[in-house]
Parts: sequence; structure tokens; C-alpha cells
Amino acid sequence: MQSGEQRQRLIENLKQGGWLRTIRVTKAFQKVRREDFVPRRFREAAYIDEPLPIGEGQSISAPGMVAIMTELLEPKPGDSVLEVGTGSGYQAAILSKLVKKVYTTELEPRLAGEAKEKLKKAGCSNVEVVIGDGSGGYPKAAPFDRIVITCAAAEVPAPLKQQLKTGGMLVAPVGGSFTQILTRLKKKKNGRFEKNEYLRCIFVPLRH
Ligand code: SAH
Repeated sequence: MQSGEQRQRLIENLKQGGWLRTIRVTKAFQKVRREDFVPRRFREAAYIDEPLPIGEGQSISAPGMVAIMTELLEPKPGDSVLEVGTGSGYQAAILSKLVKKVYTTELEPRLAGEAKEKLKKAGCSNVEVVIGDGSGGYPKAAPFDRIVITCAAAEVPAPLKQQLKTGGMLVAPVGGSFTQILTRLKKKKNGRFEKNEYLRCIFVPLRH
């Protein structure tokens, strides 16, 4: 089966499972070739709904998880988005099709460099890859309409909450190093956060 057919089949499954819910996010999944973001030796497995190793002990999230997180973010065309944990660059590539600008931070320089190359090749010109500890956010481009954290922490780092616009939303796996709860925070007018918890998940830890 060709990769385009495999991709379409995966998208159908994600729709049936309820992970892909909107036309906009579904279209973004159609546009991004996941095989271009996984290591060469795993290309055949690019359209299986599983995370895959990308080196340095890190992994590209399963497409289903990327779908859930992207839908929870409710991205809008004019949004400026911050991602913590570029990894392979796949989540950033999906977001790049949905919003105006994506800033993505990665602690591991080698992964950041590879992701930058892949994003460039994929034509994602509205993504800026920033090397460094993303737990302090990215003050240069703050505030953000949306923030997504793709590594796990016991708590959402305070600078990230600060760098979210009023009415903005942040999606993150929150919890211990073994499992976490996918959580969404919405910043209210009074500066407090409305919190919603979704499913249990497993992400690599946020490091400093
Ligand atoms: N979103 C990625 C998956 C990321 S895995 C994708 O689509 O492929 C989590 C990533 O977070 C890893 O690459 C890890 O190196 C990175 N990371 C961990 N702690 C970090 C920190 N404090 N700041 C930025 N990146 C971090």
C-alpha cells in the first residue's frame, strides 16, 4: 500500500475513534507526511498509531495522541502557538497548517537541528525552532494564543501560564514520570485557570 493510502486509512481510523473531530484538523493530517518525520528505519511503521523512537531516548508521539492534543487546542487561523518539546517536529508541522505562527522549543540540540531540516523540507515556513529549555517559555514571542507541552511535568511551569493570553488555552500531560493526565487549562479574564482533565497518557519527562 502506498503511503498516501496508508495515511488516509489511519485518518479514517482516527475519525472513527473520535480522535479527529474537525475538518480543519483532519485536513492538516492529510497534508503532513508522518513518514518524513520518523527515522528512516521506521518509515514502514509511520502510519501505525504508535509512538516511535527518534533517538536521544526520545520519541515521536502516536498520531492518535497528536490528533487528541491538536483538537483540544482548538487552533484558530490567526493564532500564535508555543510548543515545548519539538522532538521530531511532527506536532509542529501539523500545527503549522492550522495557525499563523508556531514557535517550538527543544532542549536537545541534535533533535532541534534535525526537526528544523525536516520542517523546512516539508515547507512549514511558519515554524521557528528554538534550542533550549522550554519550561521558561519563549518571552521574545510571548504572549501566545495556545501552548502545547509534549513532555511530562508534575505541574505546568509558571512562566508558561504567564505567557498565555487571556482566553488562551494550554494542553499538557500533567503528572508523574510513569503516567500523566492530559490536561487543558483555559486562562480566564481574572487571570485564573479553568482546568479540564482528559485521558491518561505516557510522555517522556520534561527535563531542565
Ligand atoms: N512533539 C514531539 C514529541 C516530543 S517528545 C513530536 O511531535 O515528535 C518530547 C520532547 O521534549 C523530546 O524531544 C525532549 O528532548 C523534549 N524536552 C524535554 N524537556 C524539554 C524542555 N525543558 N524544553 C524543551 N524540550 C524538552
